[in-house]
Amino acid sequence: MTLTADELALIDRTAALAREVVAPQAARWERERRIGHEGLAAAAALGLTRLQVPRDQGGLDLSFSCKAQIAEVLGGADFGFTMSLINTQNIAAKLARDARPEVAVRYLPDLIAGRRLGCTALTEPGAGSDFAGITTTATRCPGGWRLNGAKAWITNAAQADVVVLYAQTEPGSKGRGIAGFLVDGRREGFIREPAFALGGQHSIGTGGFRLQDYRVSDEEVLHPPGQAFKTALGSINGARTYIAAMSCGMVAEALRVAADFGERRSSFGRPLAEHQGWRWRLAEAASELAACRLMVAHAAAQIDAGVDAQLAAAQAKLLATRMAERQLPALAQAMGAEGLREEHPFSRHLIGARVASFVDGSSEMLLERIAAVMRTA
Ligand SMILES: Cc1cc2nc3c(=O)[nH]c(=O)nc-3n(C[C@H](O)[C@H](O)[C@H](O)COP(=O)(O)OP(=O)(O)OC[C@H]3O[C@@H](n4cnc5c(N)ncnc54)[C@H](O)[C@@H]3O)c2cc1C
Repeated sequence: MTLTADELALIDRTAALAREVVAPQAARWERERRIGHEGLAAAAALGLTRLQVPRDQGGLDLSFSCKAQIAEVLGGADFGFTMSLINTQNIAAKLARDARPEVAVRYLPDLIAGRRLGCTALTEPGAGSDFAGITTTATRCPGGWRLNGAKAWITNAAQADVVVLYAQTEPGSKGRGIAGFLVDGRREGFIREPAFALGGQHSIGTGGFRLQDYRVSDEEVLHPPGQAFKTALGSINGARTYIAAMSCGMVAEALRVAADFGERRSSFGRPLAEHQGWRWRLAEAASELAACRLMVAHAAAQIDAGVDAQLAAAQAKLLATRMAERQLPALAQAMGAEGLREEHPFSRHLIGARVASFVDGSSEMLLERIAAVMRTA
């Protein structure tokens, strides 16, 4: 899909943000185990928190293909930062589209300005891949619902307080009874857990929270039972595509750093890049990256065209994350010991690729989806 001049200009400005703001600070955010607020503020100022918000609600209303390219550029600087930013953007876009206008207007200005963070909460301590198996309950009460349960492994949960949350209204009914609610983390009954301590990627702000008799009004129901399950799975094609794009971004940046290193570092009297065995490693990575980029562009174009993208998105994510899991260690190896320094992206990106293989559908769930589409084709 051809991008507009405005979209191309925004991608250029995003590349400058990635280079000048995100990449130089990412190692510190990891050391301090925190979300990159300084970067999020700069991204909000560029408009990256409102990419898919309609223009009449203060957004940019850009194409999905543009969003995917922005995800690639930022993912190359820091996967976690990009996850955090995109999840807030997604909540702003969802509220603009699905919430009642009088409800949306209470949250949109803060989300767009980066003053509040957003998150989407499906996963629970006892249910990940099996979304229909969630046990957080929504029970009818006068004028609304009461929510009880727990959510875990949620991007931005360390701080986000504008939450799109899925809960079961009819235990035992699987997907049919699931509904989607807008939850405000500043209200009574929302209890945040400490951020999760992980092996890396703390800029994602991964964590969880509990709901204890949290009250949602009828106006704050985003998707009623019967619709929510389908809506949640409907937006997953986009998420799979931008995660694939971020995986490409991590490999592209690792490739750039390794290629530069190979011209400067010598062994046995020659630059590394003049050793055939060394440069083949980079050629392999560049070739697989080129193929995955085409798959991302194809899935993004289908989303923009309003075509069913489940096969293209699942295949793009499956292959791009596998490519990143294979090529990032290979490119780190090409750097020798130097690749371990925290100012280089290799160690952060290796964990980023691990995370990419789980979020928005693990590789096994993607294979299931691909197989299901093949059987109905
Ligand atoms: C950093 C991070 C951020 C996240 N952010 C969010 C978020 O913002 N919102 C949210 O809702 N969730 C989020 N998640 C959760 C993510 O979506 C889940 O990790 C994912 O759905 C997989 O669930 P699980 O980890 O519980 O694995 P499980 O479902 O417990 O599965 C464990 C393993 O078994 C495999 N498996 C499971 N069932 C089958 C089967 N039938 N056949 C074959 N293999 C199977 C899985 O593929 C996986 O490899 C995040 C996770 C991480 C790590």
